[in-house]
Amino acid sequence: MSEEKSLNFLEEIIEKDIEAGLHGGRVHTRFPPEPNGYLHIGHATSICLNFGLAKKYNGKCNLRFDDTNPTTEETEYVENIKNDIKWLGFTWDNELYASDYFETLYNFAVQLIEKGLAYVDDSTAEEIAAQKGSTTSPGTNSPYRDRTVEENLRLFREMREGKYKDGEKTLRAKIDMAHPNLLLRDPLMYRIKHEHHHRTGDKWCIYPMYDFAHGQCDSIEEITHSICTLEFIHHRPLYNWFIEQLGIFPSKQYEFARRNLTYTVMSKRKLLQLVNEGHVAGWDDPRMPTISGMRRRGYPAEAFIRFSDTIGIAKRENIVDIGLLEFCVREHLNKTTNRVMAVLDPVKLVVTNYAEGATEWFTAENNPEDETSGTRQIPFTRELWIEREDFMEEAPKKFFRLTPGNMVRLKSAYIVKCDGCVKDSDGNITEVHCTYLPESKSGNDTSGLTVKGTIHWVSVQHARTAEVRLYDRLFRVEDPSNEDGDFKDYINPDSMQVLPAVYIEPALADAKPGDRMQFMRKGYFCADVDSTPDKLIFNRTVTLKDAWAKEQKKG
Ligand code: ATP
Ligand code: MG
Repeated sequence: MSEEKSLNFLEEIIEKDIEAGLHGGRVHTRFPPEPNGYLHIGHATSICLNFGLAKKYNGKCNLRFDDTNPTTEETEYVENIKNDIKWLGFTWDNELYASDYFETLYNFAVQLIEKGLAYVDDSTAEEIAAQKGSTTSPGTNSPYRDRTVEENLRLFREMREGKYKDGEKTLRAKIDMAHPNLLLRDPLMYRIKHEHHHRTGDKWCIYPMYDFAHGQCDSIEEITHSICTLEFIHHRPLYNWFIEQLGIFPSKQYEFARRNLTYTVMSKRKLLQLVNEGHVAGWDDPRMPTISGMRRRGYPAEAFIRFSDTIGIAKRENIVDIGLLEFCVREHLNKTTNRVMAVLDPVKLVVTNYAEGATEWFTAENNPEDETSGTRQIPFTRELWIEREDFMEEAPKKFFRLTPGNMVRLKSAYIVKCDGCVKDSDGNITEVHCTYLPESKSGNDTSGLTVKGTIHWVSVQHARTAEVRLYDRLFRVEDPSNEDGDFKDYINPDSMQVLPAVYIEPALADAKPGDRMQFMRKGYFCADVDSTPDKLIFNRTVTLKDAWAKEQKKG
């Protein structure tokens, strides 16, 4: 771990800027979510990046809500975004809202009008689109392009005063309709929207466009390094143009590639559809790629940080294997969770030579990966629950679990020898029978036997019942957004399986929502937010993969 990591391209830029004494060597970043949905794993990596750079260079990072579009924004989202960032372990230096700058932005626009660099246009959206031209042909000037400064000032004021209907007028920057970059062909700065805003209420009926808000907000906050995703690379000349024409603080924009993840979608618009159309139970459904969904599923914050660090930043779009995120989750949970026993698909195992009514309490290590995790007591009795799949009446050669004549160890207890099973009239197995070897007691084994299989179990008499929810990928294909047709056609119909009655060991009875643990051989689990002492509910966070194979070898 002590190995020095090479700098990523943003760190290189920042270190050069510091060395050159730019802005007194100060580093100030911002994370600018639009409060129109919950944050997802892509945002998490952006948070790690922006807050991480500020931390690394003793700088600051603002949380700025990019709330310039009244149509889609809600206060509920603001609260959840703050909660998610805090949960990830970051603290912002300032909490700011683009809407707080509406007056300043308006005055900036007036300045540009006064300089002859902006004009009010009566063209319709279709006309403006037609004026744009194409990559191979220049655009055409709007017939309103040469209005006088006085007229523009009056019209823009009237736009603000509510004299015009939505779409009737816009404010455009006067740049160059033949510019090779289409974004600089007189881009829109303001549009009319008679809509209620979540913070400014009905005070405004004109709202700035992204391009005329983002850079100006950065500049107002004196952001030194404004990091955004790659789709804004062609906006950078415009970002610079507005700042230069206004002569305000020279924030600079840098782009990195959006992080996408396999088997899911990341756009908030698509996530909103999943929620609104009931494909999932909500933004925090444990199958969602949202921070709140993944948290509910049991993903620890540390795994997000590790994941973000591992994938680093790229200059080209890429899609990251969800397996890597799961690896980070497992790695953390392996070190931090207690091992417990839970039987998901139970069948009864009767230890026929064990005294009826007797209970022995075995001591088990909570987490072999963590010396400080302590131990707990597990009751052993004559009747136990085991997994149905751990018994086979006729088994193939390599089946090292229960099959007549074979021996296995019951984890933390005894070695037992399988004698057979009992069936009902339909041929269903109702009980498996075995005999135990008293001298094989775990921790004091004098039997001299080695067995190849170890299985988990729960005492019937002491078992508690719980609901377990198993999750699979939300989509059947790696990149649902890139398939033919609608992305929702690729939803995995079996992404959630509910097991209404599983048996868990008594030590789990007081699990609290959010508690994480490993169900031996079954995966990592987390008590759901809906879990109560009367009705325990556990989400499977992630399966174990190879961990048990190793455990079995140890014997
Ligand atoms: P979406 O397409 O999901 O709506 P967005 O870019 O519109 O995403 P914002 O709330 O504007 O969402 O994003 C806030 C910040 O997070 C921006 O700086 C944006 O670039 C970054 N971001 C959003 N999605 C990703 C992603 N998948 N990977 C990395 N950064 C992202
Ligand atoms: Mg955005």
